[in-house]
Amino acid sequence: MDVLKTLIIGSGPAGYTAAIYAARADLNPVLYTGMEPGGQLTTTTEVDNFPGYPEGIDGPTMMVQLQQQAERFGTEVRIDRIERVEFASTSGGIHKAFTAGGTELHAKTIIISTGATAKYLGLPSEQRLRGGGVSACAVCDGFFYKGQEVAIVGGGDTAAEEATYLAKICAKVTMLVRKDQMRASKAMQHRVTNTPNIDLRYHTEIDEVLGDQVVEGLRMKNNQTGETEEIMITGLFIAIGHKPNTELFEGQLDMDEAGYLVTQGKTTKTNLPGVFASGDVQDKEYRQAVTAAGTGCMAALDAERYLQEIEG
Ligand code: NDP
Repeated sequence: MDVLKTLIIGSGPAGYTAAIYAARADLNPVLYTGMEPGGQLTTTTEVDNFPGYPEGIDGPTMMVQLQQQAERFGTEVRIDRIERVEFASTSGGIHKAFTAGGTELHAKTIIISTGATAKYLGLPSEQRLRGGGVSACAVCDGFFYKGQEVAIVGGGDTAAEEATYLAKICAKVTMLVRKDQMRASKAMQHRVTNTPNIDLRYHTEIDEVLGDQVVEGLRMKNNQTGETEEIMITGLFIAIGHKPNTELFEGQLDMDEAGYLVTQGKTTKTNLPGVFASGDVQDKEYRQAVTAAGTGCMAALDAERYLQEIEG
């Protein structure tokens, strides 16, 4: 069986950037897309904050272009999902991966870029209006609601950070926290409570998102009194956490308490030699396309250096 120099798992900005760098370094990478080719950016509309696109670009187009760029240098892109891995634990060892389609792969290096998935509440009205005013990324989509009234759900650091971000752009932000307190750090909580145009509602959950094609409002419910209230909004941001896509690696790679892969220092090295992680799967702080792309580049360079070390 052929032994690949580099196998890349995942097809978001991290995976494709790793592929571009690995292909240009003659590592002949093979990239498995997973079941959501293109990753999270394929679920957003306009991407306005990726450098180099002065007019912005829609997420799916950007991902097709990244794929084309990776293929131009010889990356082989395969549409399938890796469903099991057996990592070698010694330097120079051969890592194995098995696809859902039944292929067994052997590789000297593996770059994991399987990303993270935003959590949603799961309400039918929320799901129906995803892309029509319901978003899980304020930094990506907040700008589209400039001067308008929006709401955000969640009480963690992400929700607090995104609420204050939105408050700078939007006329008013209603923040729904389901308990009588926020989980966010005290400093972040102070920022929220000191921002005059954030209307903070404790013990409050969404009963229904209103609107047919686009978000027009929200029916909120106080989970103590059962009282409901309708507000008019044009955008709803869900900030109740992300789940890194790491089930596949449980028991083999070091993860933090939330399941994110742990990398060493400023590198993309995991605890196993020849296995590298880039993008949101190892980053719960920044989670941007451009930071994911940056770490994808780092992972390819780390893989190339590792191969030089073991091959001499
Ligand atoms: P968290 O898991 O910390 O917080 C999730 C929030 O969403 C909680 O307030 C939780 O409520 C709420 N929530 C969960 N499910 C529901 C639901 N079904 N309905 C309503 N509310 C719900 O996620 P974050 O994304 O905020 O943060 C993840 C990690 O990243 C944390 O460790 C955080 O500290 C870190 N982070 C750090 C930042 C920074 O330092 N600048 C910025 C962003 C994130 P409840 O409390 O009731 O469970």
